Amino acid sequence: MSNELLVVRDLEKSFQVGRGVEFKAIDKVSFSIARGKTLGLVGESGCGKTTIGRTVVRLYQADGGQVLFQDMDVHRVTRKQAHELTKRMQMIFQDPYSSLNPRMTVGDIIGEGLDIHKLYNGRKARNERIYELLEMVGLNREHAGRFPHEFSGGQRQRVGIARALAVEPEFIVCDEAISALDVSIQAQIINLLMDLQDELGLTYLFIAHDLSMVRHISDDIAVMYLGNLVEKAETDTLYTKPLHPYTQGLLEAVPTPDPIYEKQREKILLTGDVKSFKGERKGCVFASRCKYAADLCQEVKPELREIEPAHFAACHRIEELNGASRRR
Ligand code: SF4
Repeated sequence: MSNELLVVRDLEKSFQVGRGVEFKAIDKVSFSIARGKTLGLVGESGCGKTTIGRTVVRLYQADGGQVLFQDMDVHRVTRKQAHELTKRMQMIFQDPYSSLNPRMTVGDIIGEGLDIHKLYNGRKARNERIYELLEMVGLNREHAGRFPHEFSGGQRQRVGIARALAVEPEFIVCDEAISALDVSIQAQIINLLMDLQDELGLTYLFIAHDLSMVRHISDDIAVMYLGNLVEKAETDTLYTKPLHPYTQGLLEAVPTPDPIYEKQREKILLTGDVKSFKGERKGCVFASRCKYAADLCQEVKPELREIEPAHFAACHRIEELNGASRRR
């Protein structure tokens, strides 16, 4: 039996950007995540990764393709199944400052999911469960009566995690969950998420805009550019042998703690902005910023294909640039 909890197949999502023009935010994206594992989804702002997270958990309706959560086709479910999915799939948002209702106590923010899904028997049991959740995320029961503004950024993100955990989900989308935090706090939140994964068997889609922190939490990493996956591999492989020019550029942008190496290394810096694509597009999505772009790249879109076992990339010149052998 397959151990995949989530399977995304050829997912498509577009948005109207005025005067009948469509912006394709996700263009036939496919990936899967095994139960208890983490897929890191990485790419610069505007590449569509948040749209993927939101479409996977049904906050957006898909325009094409499928999201399978175990046996359920997420975008073709009954009302009862949709309600069940709000319990089984949760999301932790980017900004702990704006994602918590400032007028609600932390206890009530965490208790909301318990109320919606009727997950307690009596007031006392509700409070005990809230205290338990606060302690699971490194806070304490005294925090239940306080308001979000009384907490630091890291503490607020812990509240966001407790809120997600309240309904005992199997799968959580962490949407830039650490981006708004200081680096030292980022590490604490990553460690907390990893401990919770071990304890509760959680499966994560971990969305981030750079490759600096995702390594620690991800089993596999998918790199995204303008609505398309351009590379996908097991985490260590992606860091030690990146194949796609965009991934190589992202990795070069990650600072290292060694100042001498930092000074000496040759950076493949990403230049130019992410070009916005409206309407029809042809050729490689990365062609406008790629120093290796050839005529073919402007005309024909490269498919995401398996270059080495379990290592996929979408580039016409991968073998030539990396000396890898073509498998198919
Ligand atoms: Fe660069 Fe061409 Fe490869 Fe795209 S297909 S990444 S433009 S070399």
